[in-house]
Amino acid sequence: MLYPAFTTMQAIQIHTTGSADVLTLTDLPTPTPGPGEALLRIEASGVNFIDTYFREGRYPAKLPYTLGQEAAGTIVSVAPDVTTFKPGDRVAWCLIPGTYAQFAVAPAARLVAIPEGVTTQQAAAAILQGMTAHYLLHSAYPVQPGDEILIHAGAGGTGLLFIQMAKSLGARVFTTVSSEEKATLARAAGADEVIFYTKEDFAAKVKSLTGNKGLPVVYDSVGKSTFEQSLQCLRPRGIVVLFGGASGPVPPFDLIRLSTMGSLYVTRPTLKDYIATRAELDHRAKDVFDAIANGTLRLRVEHVYPLADAAQAHRELESRATTGKLLLIP
Ligand code: NDP
Repeated sequence: MLYPAFTTMQAIQIHTTGSADVLTLTDLPTPTPGPGEALLRIEASGVNFIDTYFREGRYPAKLPYTLGQEAAGTIVSVAPDVTTFKPGDRVAWCLIPGTYAQFAVAPAARLVAIPEGVTTQQAAAAILQGMTAHYLLHSAYPVQPGDEILIHAGAGGTGLLFIQMAKSLGARVFTTVSSEEKATLARAAGADEVIFYTKEDFAAKVKSLTGNKGLPVVYDSVGKSTFEQSLQCLRPRGIVVLFGGASGPVPPFDLIRLSTMGSLYVTRPTLKDYIATRAELDHRAKDVFDAIANGTLRLRVEHVYPLADAAQAHRELESRATTGKLLLIP
């Protein structure tokens, strides 16, 4: 039973797709948990680049749509059939839409308990991007000690976590950034080589840094403006793990080119398929939270906005003005 003050909540919705201007602060009824679900009071909601894809209509959503796919907070109530969590538990979750809000409902089966040593804000800042870096490095292309690898946008939310995890796996990490400030952050995270992809041909630079050998893998989340050159960075039988399109979607591609360029591979993975089972979700979340708790994974959360300023957060993320994680506080 909710106190009367909790029967409505504020949320950021879109009623039409478009620029950051379409984000609207709206009063909505607080949702009610259905079977298997929990009602959650959100303490912090993560802003992710994928939220801009939904906002602009690149990914379809039924309108009106409450944005946001990542949050952490406290359980207010659970449906009678939920036995795994109880009111008051601190939990984090991701890939369940509707987190740009004061409250949300989510299936208990997709909630992750936040351990001692990890704050609720840290959990909100790391659950989605941390598990993304984890599956990319452990499963999409499992990195081996000594591998030379390239990750684009190394000072971004995912990038900074990825670099630290890749270093802990023993890789030599190359990364790309667009500014000196971002280069400093990427180096501090452990990057061995930082390339300014807005100023220089990063494929040529990679080739020269590897004695013309090329790389076994490029992790590319920038897409349209980088994909061609990412392919050129590879050695024969190398793979581009294309996991996003911050600069836009990659145009249609003739597969015969994978043959002529050296029996290359391309995969287009998404986190959903790498945390599909409870065991995989628990395993990745545990690794990420343990690393935060023991200090081996450092979070950079400099951009913290009130929920009402979600549009500002989107503008800054899309204009490449941000580094590390962005959070909304309802
Ligand atoms: P980031 O914090 O990394 O922000 C995006 C960064 O991309 C910018 O800071 C910028 O870094 C770089 N960039 C390059 N070109 C552009 C451009 N034209 N416009 C805007 N930014 C550009 O965001 P996230 O960590 O939230 O996400 C990073 C990527 O990872 C996104 O593509 C996202 O969709 C993807 N992703 C994919 C997942 C999956 O499972 N497939 C899961 C999570 C994220 P710089 O200024 O240094 O170039």
